[in-house]
Order: sequence, then structure tokens, then C-alpha cells
Amino acid sequence: MQNVILELTRIQKEILEIASPQAQVRKIVDSISAVVGTDVCTLYLMDENRDMVLIVSHGLRDTGPIKIPAGLGLVGLVAQSRHSINLARAAAHPRFYYVAGTEEERFQSFCGVPLVRYGKVIGVLVVQSRDANALSPENEAFLVTLSSQLALLVNEIPANGYGALSGNVRIPGVKGSSGVGIGHVQLCDGGELFAVPDSPCTDTAEDIRQWHQLLHTVRLEIEAEQQALGSIISDSIAGIFESYEKLLADPALITRVEAEILAGNWLPGALRKGIQFFSELFMAMEDPYLHARHEDIHHLGNKLYKAFLGMDHAHAQLPEHTGEGLILVGTQVSISDIASLPPGQIAGIVCFEGSSMSHTAVLANALGIPAVMGTGRLKGIHNEERLIVDGNIGQVIRHPNDMLCAEFRQIIDQEKEFQNQLAELRDEAAITQDHIEISLFTNSGLLADLTPGLKNGAQGIGLYRTEIPFMVRDSFPSEEEQVQVYHHVFDVYQDKPVYMRTLDIGGDKQLPYFPITNEDNPALGWRGIRFSLDNIQLLMTQVRAMVRAAQDRHKLNILLPMVSSTSELDTFTELLAEACEQLRIEGYLIHKPRVGAMIEVPAAISQIPFWASRLDFISIGSNDLSQYLLALDRNNARVAGRYDHIHPAVIHEIFRIVNSARQYQLPLSLCGEMASDPMAVILLLGMGIRTLSMSAVKLPRIKWLIRSLSLGQAEAILQRALSLDNVEAIRSLLAIELKQLNADLIK
Ligand code: PEP
Ligand code: MG
Repeated sequence: MQNVILELTRIQKEILEIASPQAQVRKIVDSISAVVGTDVCTLYLMDENRDMVLIVSHGLRDTGPIKIPAGLGLVGLVAQSRHSINLARAAAHPRFYYVAGTEEERFQSFCGVPLVRYGKVIGVLVVQSRDANALSPENEAFLVTLSSQLALLVNEIPANGYGALSGNVRIPGVKGSSGVGIGHVQLCDGGELFAVPDSPCTDTAEDIRQWHQLLHTVRLEIEAEQQALGSIISDSIAGIFESYEKLLADPALITRVEAEILAGNWLPGALRKGIQFFSELFMAMEDPYLHARHEDIHHLGNKLYKAFLGMDHAHAQLPEHTGEGLILVGTQVSISDIASLPPGQIAGIVCFEGSSMSHTAVLANALGIPAVMGTGRLKGIHNEERLIVDGNIGQVIRHPNDMLCAEFRQIIDQEKEFQNQLAELRDEAAITQDHIEISLFTNSGLLADLTPGLKNGAQGIGLYRTEIPFMVRDSFPSEEEQVQVYHHVFDVYQDKPVYMRTLDIGGDKQLPYFPITNEDNPALGWRGIRFSLDNIQLLMTQVRAMVRAAQDRHKLNILLPMVSSTSELDTFTELLAEACEQLRIEGYLIHKPRVGAMIEVPAAISQIPFWASRLDFISIGSNDLSQYLLALDRNNARVAGRYDHIHPAVIHEIFRIVNSARQYQLPLSLCGEMASDPMAVILLLGMGIRTLSMSAVKLPRIKWLIRSLSLGQAEAILQRALSLDNVEAIRSLLAIELKQLNADLIK
């Protein structure tokens, strides 16, 4: 019996090196045929009408496009029954369906296995042989195992197979941030060399040849970059180019990588070892300048690895006449990638991984940039490729033709028009039809997104995520640096309240200079207040900076993230008292801030009665609360489809929080993404929540919604929703209600 994992790894590695989708699927069927030892291997994928489209075949005569109508033949039967069918004589089966022209009559045996992805049949893999022998149980089991992995790979291949490059290739993902963007790809990652594993080298001579080719390619790239920058580059940058060139020509590096390949490691693994060796040499140096050079070596390693992957390094050139922006594309487009460009230039964001709750999506929402997450790796994507990002549906369209672009441009225009109508509400109160005023705040964290909140009529900042200013730096910011950042926030918001959260890193929010790795469960690990209390010097600095920046104004409210036990609150209370005391002694005119806790860990819910006397307010962090209640990682594309903050468990628990806060007279707000989901907002108002904080761009729509409904209506809808036992039913109920309010355009 073959080693499934080894074979799979080999096939996966081989297809990774192939750029075109057609060549990739061909490689897959050829490899399976060889491994299982059959004459034919054919891949069918299900189209939107449930017909089975022959994507590629090893062994069948190529007759052009072939489609087996839904439910027909053995292929249809495999898809319907969702289990494998293994026959010695296919023609004897009553469901046999002969595909004309393929000369299938030459083959007697048939084994079809369904390709299932996240619970849905997406295709069927068929092997056939001339001999009338059913596949051995071992080989059948191998095929079943292989196809469960293949289903994940196939998703990365455009669904219309052969027609993939002819245009309008729709790739499903999950909604990250609503809106539609048309633009040109700017690749943001690809190629973290240090994450590359060792793997056996199948052809040492070929890998050595590729290694020399790679050196040559990158040398030319560096020359071109130097020329393009010309006189603009400073001496220190020119020095880096020189050191790159020296290292590329250094026999020590060249032979080290060669030796690794000859020892049996594949080229990327050998390259990683070679680069790591030099990087560690520099890292061990005491001289700070030389020590820092290990980063340059790491960058060069990544550059070589990207060249190996065939990724383009040039920045996308925007065709001027189209007026289209950039679409940032990457495994996880980082916050620094977004922050490094003016928001107006970014037309969309596409992440191969992640979900709507990733921080990239949260930031995209804040900036009003359409985003699609969890698309899986988009094979062969390159800089400047034109893309449509449809954040309303959660899909990316590759190679869009002009007609489709024109249609999408109309949607963008309609959206703009609706936005203009919404802008007129800017100075109007968020008041329901039965005259109850709701307070609307904005979530913020990037300096760039401070003003949109104000422009959209925010009454203050309901959640200021301080980790973002920490993320876009190379080291922890000093107290003075933090004072400046926070001071600017208070200045912009003048007398409006600001709810500033202490550092909430860990989980999916990592600092480049303080990575928290080696945790099996980062979401349950060293994050939020736990990290801050264990690094009390950082917390003290941050709290001092916040209090100093607010001066004697009464508008600073400190929010504590991820609180799960009373002792965390008590320790923070002592620290805050000490910070205020220190500052007074140092002569600062300050005001002691109000303190509140995020209710985002389920354990916090039942402790609200104990905490009521210790806290001035609470704020529901519905993003984390949902992920912990549902035990669904908000960044895992595999389970993203199951994550929904309208899940009955979540809304019942939030109702419990609201009732508890009311009983203990604790002011309450909600600052997770739920506050910008119109359906959720109806329920939250019905529960009695009167303060919501959301991304600035969503604020006008939510205000529009609040103004078009009465609390009486919201309460009645909530009661009906609370009696339903599943998300789909609740969402359908809310969709009908939104339609009746004529609120369909609010996405
Ligand atoms: C939340 O969890 O709902 C929240 C607002 O915090 P963050 O998304 O920053 O973790
Ligand atoms: Mg949170």
C-alpha cells in the first residue's frame, strides 16, 4: 500500500510548481493514474446546475467539452449517493451512461469517489481500467483519502477548468468587508522562506540548475530595481543592494546550498538552511549595525524564494486611464500593508486565508475597503492582474471581461449614490420612530481612520484599538510616542468621549517585534489583559501615556480586553491608582479615567454581578464572544462559514448580559462587528442596547436603519428570533423585516 501522505505531498509539491490551472489538474490526474495503476483517471467538477463537467482526463479520448447532466450515469450516482462506487464491469450497471466520443467502451472497470468540500459534493474523481477487475480495497481506500485532500486543492483551481483563462472566473471566499472594487493586483506576500519545510529532493541535478538560474534571476532583478530607483536611493539603501549582490556571488552561500541539495534536501529547504546560516552569523554579532544585517539576509532569502515561486516583485502599475485602484492580495494582507498606502488608492483586499472576523477584515471595514477573505491560494496570480472584489457576496472575479466590469461599475455608482443620501443624515440624531435616541460611536485605531468617524457623525470613539499603533512600528513605542498618538486622538475628538483599550495583542494580532509563537491554541493563550499583566512595565507605560494624553479632561475611558477573572480587574485598579499617583507627583494635571471591561470571554458573563461595583461600564466584544461561545476560530477559513454572531447561542447570551447590566445599573455598549450588521442591530435594539460602536463607514447605514424603525418593532422581532433554533431561520426572519423597512440596500 502506498504511503498516502508521501504521495500527496509529492503531488502537492509538483502542482505548486505549475502556474496554469489546466496544467495543474492534468498533473493531478496523471499522477493519480500512475500511483493507483489505472488506464484512466478523470476529474469531473459540478457546475452551478449540478451538471458534472469533465475538467481533465488521463486516458479518455479528448473530444472537447463534456458535460454529464445532473444525476445521470455512474458519475451522477456517486455525486448523489456521496459514497464511492467500485465496479468490475461498469457497463453492466443499470445507471451506466456512455459518454459518446470518448472511446470509453475500451474500459471495463470503474471506481468513482466523490470530492467533498466542507460538506458539499463538488465533483467526482473516476478511475477506469481495461481489465474487468474492481479496484483493490487498498487502492479504493487510497483513492478516497486522496480525493478528500484533492477536494481542497481543486478549490484553488478555477471552477470552469479549461475555460479558466477566458474570463470571469468566480472564486468563492467569505465576506470580509462589503462593497465592490475593481482594480489591479498588488501582491503583498508570498514566500516566507523561513516557513519552508525540508522535503526530499527528487532530482538533484535539476535543483542545482534551478539554484543557479535563481541566482541569475534575482541578480537581474536587483540591478533593475537599482536602476529604477536611480539617484533617489540614499547611500544606506545603495549599501543594501551592494551587500545583496555580494552575497549572491559569495561562493560560501552558493556551495552551502549546493551541498544541502546534494545531501537530499529540495531547493527551497536547502536555500532556507543556507540563508539561515548566514542570518544567524550576523544575529550573533554584538555590533548593533552588523547585528541588524541579519534582516537584510532574511529579506534576500525571501526574494530568492519568491523568484523560485515565480512571484513578481515589481509594484503594480496602475493604468492611468482606467482610474482603478490597487487590490492588495496575499495570504493574510497585513495591517502594515494597508497602512502603508493611502486608503484612497486601495480598491479592494483579498486574503487567501482568514475570515470576516480577521483583523484585516475589521480594518477594511473601518476604512470602507471591499474585502474578501479565505479564497484559498489564487494560483498564478500576478501583479497588475485585473480583479473584481465583491465584498457583498464574498467572491473574487479573475480576468473579468469588459461587460462584467461595466455591470460592476454600475453597482459601485449605485452604492455611491446611496452613500450620498446617507451623508445628508450626518448631523441628524440616530432616533427611532418612537423617539428613542441611540448613541452611535465609531471604532478606530489607525490615525488615517480618525476623521471618517467624525465626518459620519460619530458621538465619540467607542473602541480605540491601541494595538494598531503598536503594530506599525519596529519596537514597543515609548511613553512619549504613545502620548503623542493618543493626544492626537483626543484633539481630533475634542470633547467627545474616547474609550481606549489597553493593548490586546496575541491570537490573530501579532506584533512584528514581539511574536507570540509556539502556542497550540493562540486564541486561548497569552493575549489581551493576560499579556499586559504579565508585562506590567508595558501596561504601566501605556496607562501613564493614556492618562497624560487625556490631561485633566473627563473623556478618557479605559477598556480592558479579554478579562476573565476578578483578580485581573483588581490588579489593574491598583496599577491605575499607582500610575495616577506617580503622574500627580511628577506634576501632571490629570483626571482619573473611568474603567470598563470588554465582555468577550464567556466566563465574564456570569461574573458581571461581582464586577458591577468595580467597573464604570462594560462593552460587549461580540467578535471574540461569538468565537468563544461557538468554539469557532474567527480566522479559520475552514470553519468561517459556520461562524455567525446571529447564532441563537450568541443572541441568548447577549440578552443575558444586557439584563444583567440593567439589573446592576452598569452602563453598556457593544463594539464588535455585530454593531454594523443591520440584522443584528434590530435584535440588539430590541434587547435594550442603546449604545453601539462600529466602523465609521457603517455608521450612516445603521443610523438610517435606526431612524426607520420603532423600538416596539425591534422588541417584537427579537421575541420571535429568540424562539428560533437556528441561524438560517433567524436570518430569514430578519431579511423579511429589512425588506419591509425598504432597507435592502443596507448591506
Ligand atoms: C471583539 O472581540 O468584539 C472586539 C471588538 O475586539 P477585537 O475584535 O479587537 O478582538
Ligand atoms: Mg476582542
